[in-house]
Amino acid sequence: MAPSEQALPSVVLKSGRDRSVRARHPRLFSGAIKLTEGKPRDGNVVDVRANTGEWLARGIINQQAQIAVRLLTWDNNEIIDDQFWVRCVARAVTSRERDPLLSHTNARRLIFGESDGLPGVIADDYAGHIVLQLSTLAAANARTPIVDALTHHAAALSVTERNDDERMRHEHLKDHSGAVFGTAPSGLLQIQENDQRYLVDIAAGQKTGFYLDQRENRARLAPYCHGAAVLNVFSYTGAFGIVAAAHGAARVVNIDSSADALHTAEANVRLLKDSPCTFEYVLADAFEEIRRRRSAGEKFDIVILDPPKFAHSPDQIDRAVRAYKDLNRLGLGLVNPGGLLATFSCSGVIDPALFQKAVFSAAVEADRDVQAIARLSQASDHPILLSFPESEYLKGLLCRVL
Ligand code: SAH
Repeated sequence: MAPSEQALPSVVLKSGRDRSVRARHPRLFSGAIKLTEGKPRDGNVVDVRANTGEWLARGIINQQAQIAVRLLTWDNNEIIDDQFWVRCVARAVTSRERDPLLSHTNARRLIFGESDGLPGVIADDYAGHIVLQLSTLAAANARTPIVDALTHHAAALSVTERNDDERMRHEHLKDHSGAVFGTAPSGLLQIQENDQRYLVDIAAGQKTGFYLDQRENRARLAPYCHGAAVLNVFSYTGAFGIVAAAHGAARVVNIDSSADALHTAEANVRLLKDSPCTFEYVLADAFEEIRRRRSAGEKFDIVILDPPKFAHSPDQIDRAVRAYKDLNRLGLGLVNPGGLLATFSCSGVIDPALFQKAVFSAAVEADRDVQAIARLSQASDHPILLSFPESEYLKGLLCRVL
């Protein structure tokens, strides 16, 4: 029997609400649904039909979530079974293996959710040890084929699941963390990113342990670091500072509010061995610490601002833009004339144009002329799916400050 003849339950869209589905946007919001036929249970595969009855797509339903259907295929012949998940995992892993930008690194994002056709699945590979997050009901129900595919196609030594609380709440998913395959090393794990080595705490570090998305931006900044005094604000485990030191920086000051992150930053510096660079680790609120250093008249050749997400939803955009503006104004005040500001936002709801406006306002208030010499984005293992603009979240500007 062809899949189109299978008696799958259906959701039928309201008139005029089929556009985003036809444009292959992978999220179907409950407000677009007119009615549901065939009494699907949450986690079931459903067909999505236009108001006219025309077949549009197929996905997995969760009626408790605002995103009622996670769309998985726009091909009526494609069946959503274990093999579907295995195929998607294999395709994602293969694309990373073929990516030349990842050839000198053993830490990479293997699966980036919707961008890889796998809504709610994040898989980060740290030297063969994979950290997995399953934050949709669709993904959580497919745990077994996903883990099997990772062990088979990515030759995983271990797979450890970690919760993404913010996302899981939206889908009413219960805690599910711990080892799912093999044994992850206890303590810190060493990875190689381009020419640098870092220690990663995959069990207790932030997110899955390391900010892989900044890999290319660290490399982009490296050539400017020779002889520089670098202020690495929101340093986490100090990765930008390690790259800077490895490329000849004279001084790196790491600021972060997490003591654990700064301890790992110190351990990362020990891996550098004979670097003449001097390091400072400052456990503080970034805003307060920058203000303090400004009052003291300090200046740096390079200031890096990589804060956590300031906006989690559209209603937080205005407040977040003000926070980005304030932060960048403060940061600009610490840059030597002719020095650099590398400034970032990982708030998906703030687009690159709006972020640039915030930095522009900061420049006006700081009374400095600022030239963007590069627009920065997320690394290639975090691809932006064009039908899902929300997958673009990290943006940055590398600026020369006159
Ligand atoms: N640049 C880092 C990633 C930064 S993630 C890298 O490349 O690895 C954001 C960091 O900001 C986290 O380490 C978090 O602990 C820190 N943080 C959050 N709020 C802060 C605050 N108010 N002051 C200082 N650090 C803060």
